Amino acid sequence: MAPKKRETRKRKTEDPGEDGDTEKEPRSGEVRRRNIRGCSKYIGAHVGIQGGIWKAVDSCVAMGGTSFALFLGSQRSWKRPALDSSAADKFREQCSLHTFDPAHILPHGSYLMNCGSPKEECKLTDDVFEKSQALLVDELSRCSRLGLTLYNFHPGSSLGTITTEECTEKIATAINHAHQQTPAVVTVLENMSGQGSTVGGKFSELKAIIDKVRDQSRMGVCLDTCHAFAAGYDLTAEGGVKAMLDEFDQQVGLKYLKAIHLNDSKGKVGCNLDRHEDIGKGHIGIPAFRDIVNEPRLDNIPLILETPGRPGFEYAEQIELLYSLFDKKK
Ligand SMILES: [Zn+2]
Ligand SMILES: [Zn+2]
Repeated sequence: MAPKKRETRKRKTEDPGEDGDTEKEPRSGEVRRRNIRGCSKYIGAHVGIQGGIWKAVDSCVAMGGTSFALFLGSQRSWKRPALDSSAADKFREQCSLHTFDPAHILPHGSYLMNCGSPKEECKLTDDVFEKSQALLVDELSRCSRLGLTLYNFHPGSSLGTITTEECTEKIATAINHAHQQTPAVVTVLENMSGQGSTVGGKFSELKAIIDKVRDQSRMGVCLDTCHAFAAGYDLTAEGGVKAMLDEFDQQVGLKYLKAIHLNDSKGKVGCNLDRHEDIGKGHIGIPAFRDIVNEPRLDNIPLILETPGRPGFEYAEQIELLYSLFDKKK
């Protein structure tokens, strides 16, 4: 279903106040969310957790999003304080109050983790692989306690000292270990831009990891548009989005596609740089995002912005822009 056009004053007076509407702010996030109810696309953004993890839900609602991503704790520390049970309860309550399906919430793993880290990198007591494996278990446990079913992370990096094949083995080892230790959260690998020695720029590398995981029902993939473009998928070409999804289906399988990161790219196609740009302001451009928003294979999965979101073109505006790209005739 296509989203409706702008709210009229008439509609507003028929339905006053309920969503905190004011004269100054004629279309709150809640109103915009209501307008797109029943739409098959779930567009949102990565939101902060400052002040309490449950605040992520309110932030998403305020920006008119219908899906969101969040970190599960500080990006600076390997060891985090235990998740407070009242905070977890509040998070679940907020999700249910605003009718978020867990399948539309995509926690993002810590940037500290490198599940492909070679042993050679360890400095006696500082083994990044061991610490990454432990953090993966911790983060999956947090997901379960928050009622979440997906968990997205960057596969890892060989740091140039082991082969890609060896690196994918280590990543799969960490995932198998974490699956054993935790209940049924789906681990979602993110495609990478092909920068440096990161693994996951090629779909075949994601497949190589999945193939080595025992419980493949707990595996998924999140495709980042900026990373795909930087890795060489020309989304600006006629049919470029379809071609990428066709190739993904052939090499990995669409059943694994659990989410999209919607980012424009500062760099050109094939640049291998992981540099996100606001929607329509980079080298990917609006026509490709129109194709994405109208692609039926991307129905009912979270489509998450991770763009700079500059003042005047923040997430709320970018979400509204993306919803406006729907083909109204459909
Ligand atoms: Zn990411
Ligand atoms: Zn990125």
